[in-house]
Amino acid sequence: MDDAALDRLGAGFTGRLLTAADDMAPFLTDWRRKWTGRAVAVAQPDSAAGVAAVVRWCAEHGIAVVPQGGNTGLSGGATPDTSGRALVLSLTRLNKVRALDPINNTITVEAGVTLQQVQEAAREAGRLFPLSLAAEGTCTIGGNLATNAGGVQVLRYGNARELCLGLEVVTAQGEVWDGLRGLRKDNTGYDLRDLYIGSEGTLGVITAAVLKLFPLPAAQVAAFVAVPGPAAALALLQLAQARLGAGLTAFELMSDTCIALVEKHVDAARLPLAERSPWYVLLEVSDNVDEAHASAAVEGLLEQAMEQALVTDAALSSSLAQFQALWALREDISESQGAEGRTIKHDIALPISRIADFIAATDAAIQSQWPEPRLVVFGHLGDGNLHYNLSPAADRLGAEHAEAFTALEAPINRCVHDAVAAHGGSISAEHGLGVLRRDEAARYKSPTERALMQAIKQALDPHHLMNPAKLLPLENA
Ligand SMILES: Cc1cc2nc3c(=O)[nH]c(=O)nc-3n(C[C@H](O)[C@H](O)[C@H](O)COP(=O)(O)OP(=O)(O)OC[C@H]3O[C@@H](n4cnc5c(N)ncnc54)[C@H](O)[C@@H]3O)c2cc1C
Repeated sequence: MDDAALDRLGAGFTGRLLTAADDMAPFLTDWRRKWTGRAVAVAQPDSAAGVAAVVRWCAEHGIAVVPQGGNTGLSGGATPDTSGRALVLSLTRLNKVRALDPINNTITVEAGVTLQQVQEAAREAGRLFPLSLAAEGTCTIGGNLATNAGGVQVLRYGNARELCLGLEVVTAQGEVWDGLRGLRKDNTGYDLRDLYIGSEGTLGVITAAVLKLFPLPAAQVAAFVAVPGPAAALALLQLAQARLGAGLTAFELMSDTCIALVEKHVDAARLPLAERSPWYVLLEVSDNVDEAHASAAVEGLLEQAMEQALVTDAALSSSLAQFQALWALREDISESQGAEGRTIKHDIALPISRIADFIAATDAAIQSQWPEPRLVVFGHLGDGNLHYNLSPAADRLGAEHAEAFTALEAPINRCVHDAVAAHGGSISAEHGLGVLRRDEAARYKSPTERALMQAIKQALDPHHLMNPAKLLPLENA
């Protein structure tokens, strides 16, 4: 790429254009430092028109576009490949809240606004924006929608797709599509919004969105509950849904191995129960009355659950600090597992009714073939989403064992994902395919489904310049 051509791009939009290696470096490696690529430049336009100018310039020069938000994605979708023939299009300067309509219960934000900023803007207006995940201070709404992010409140409010009413998108041809409609009903043809949500930057660039808001709950209570196993946790989920209805806003499952890792790596972390249990549930109740009302509802649930031997012990939050401490036990699992050494991770979805069978069958299959690694299993049980992970055995954390553990990744992935398919599940629940799961996903989709996806890609991005080789295998990208 000659400097004169880059200069013309620089003149074509307002924002920043980075070309020096040091300036570009933070945009060329992913969050987990698993992938590092190269790029012609990093463009940071500050308007949708600027995004369109960049995309048109890339189309003219045959340069691939890699959209990037907060760069917290876990599947390698926001990292360019190593060819050096791509441009990273960073959306972080599209950072304005454009409108908030408290009567329509909607907020209109640009793609680079962080999830936390959206939550805060909603709260200031006395509203709740319920999408919530541990990367919320850094990840952007554009990235959340492009990956159809999930998080901890999907059970009650749905994932990013269900929270989005309208989009503004720059197409692969560099045109701006204004689909910023704040409508809850709109049956006027194909749902273009739903095509772009979850497309991981492979069809176009999201530049703004209209999002749904909800009433702020008056109180929230968390309970950390010991359960004998996943089957009891599922029975508890049913009981909780029957008793609490929409008041049940999160229902998380985690094994004792997960909590032991958090206690090991996080100074403040303490098991809030007198005795250990093989499994725990963290449940959250949101209430429109007050905290006493919420606590009474949870106590009633736990009493009945103990009578039915679904629960052996429980701790309830009675202050914001306790609420946060109980949640921290769940939210610190990923980082604690990372601090322990290498990991093998699976972000899978299953029909909720089949989760206990899946865990029993897959644990047995893994332990019979690979008895050493530790299973680190947790997830959003209420959504049927498990993070079915593995760590090396506690006495094999040294660097000399790393290669042997890494060599297990491919066969263990196959074992877990075949079990997911056999139980009617999905190999990516909330992190997307990116490059991490791209080829494996092709294995589990039917030829018809693959052909439909290729036809959509071909129709919307005929020159295959939008995030090529992400989500779809290279030959189809
Ligand atoms: C600590 C931690 C916890 C996490 N927890 C969760 C969780 O609970 N649930 C969950 O779902 N995810 C979770 N994630 C993953 C990640 O935060 C989400 O995938 C998030 O939605 C990515 O947003 P981002 O802005 O960082 O996107 P990026 O990482 O920048 O990009 C992700 C993908 O979206 C594309 N993209 C980004 N912006 C746009 C745009 N404006 N238009 C078109 N395409 C775009 C990129 O090309 C890439 O393919 C977690 C990550 C971390 C690091």
